[in-house]
Amino acid sequence: MIIVMHAATDQQIKQVIEELRCLGIEGHIIECFDRTIITAEGEELQQNRQHFNGLPGVESVLFITTPYKLVSRQFRAQTSVISVRNAAFGSTSIPIIAGPCAIESYEQLYETAAAVKKAGACILRAGTYKPRTSPYSFQGLEREGLGILQAVSRELDIPVVSEVTDPRLVEVFCQSVDILQIGARNMQNFALLKEVAQSNKPVLLKRGPASTIEEWLLAAEYVLAGGNSQIVLCERGIRTFEPYTRNTLDLNAMALAKELSHLPVIVDPSHGTGQWSLVGPMSKAAIAAGADGLVIEVHPCPAKALSDGPQSLTPKRFASLMDELRLLANVSNRQI
Ligand code: PEP
Ligand code: MN
Repeated sequence: MIIVMHAATDQQIKQVIEELRCLGIEGHIIECFDRTIITAEGEELQQNRQHFNGLPGVESVLFITTPYKLVSRQFRAQTSVISVRNAAFGSTSIPIIAGPCAIESYEQLYETAAAVKKAGACILRAGTYKPRTSPYSFQGLEREGLGILQAVSRELDIPVVSEVTDPRLVEVFCQSVDILQIGARNMQNFALLKEVAQSNKPVLLKRGPASTIEEWLLAAEYVLAGGNSQIVLCERGIRTFEPYTRNTLDLNAMALAKELSHLPVIVDPSHGTGQWSLVGPMSKAAIAAGADGLVIEVHPCPAKALSDGPQSLTPKRFASLMDELRLLANVSNRQI
């Protein structure tokens, strides 16, 4: 159960907690969406629902049937809009995030960023701590890369998102990026989720390659329950029996997550397919199916990329895809 309190005094919150305790129930206090939320489990609470509803400061007592509570649409019917400067996820606009998989040099990032911005991307993506399957693969420029990212972001006046892989790095990332990305492999790194929950930065939470939709939403619940309600979910493909594509892009999951949760859901057709020629078709499918945004990998010379070249678009291909996506968005009265 969730007890929602609005403009409640400390005394009123204390009263609810104490009354719960009298029933042998431990209440947990969370501040989110301008409300004080008390989460509590127990049959006695269900039986005394009316009583708690009438306590001073209590706005409502909700019985939420899903294991994730604050993330659920049962908790909040309207879609949450997550704003990052001029971009708004969960609105009628469709923010497009684009950039290289990894930062390789200042010149490579600047050239890509200038091109994707010109083509209409409103957020730059670029990895600097890369979670690679092999320890012998390029691991990213790490701290040096963060400096480059910050410089390019300032010079081109474009917000940036980058993956934070370690709880100890969250503080330094908060000083350098506009959105903290939690990568697919770290979706259930609970120490990392708790750390980003304590930051005031929006979080882009990718779905794990072998995670169920419920596990994904519960990972988002960690961030919300920890005090950060600025979450954008990202479907990026899951591992299936199919070896012809890197992953299987699960557009079901995008559409269903939007039904189950009030959080905006975007799609990453680059990792979802692993093949640049499929990025266009899957971008269009995602937008037609109602995605709240896209993440697309772009590299000035994909053949020479140090990571994810095969799934990266050239700036030219990205610009022509953007033209097509704009038309598609307009059909459903949305804008890119
Ligand atoms: C990435 O965005 O570069 C990345 C590593 O993505 P994922 O975590 O989805 O594999
Ligand atoms: Mn990548």
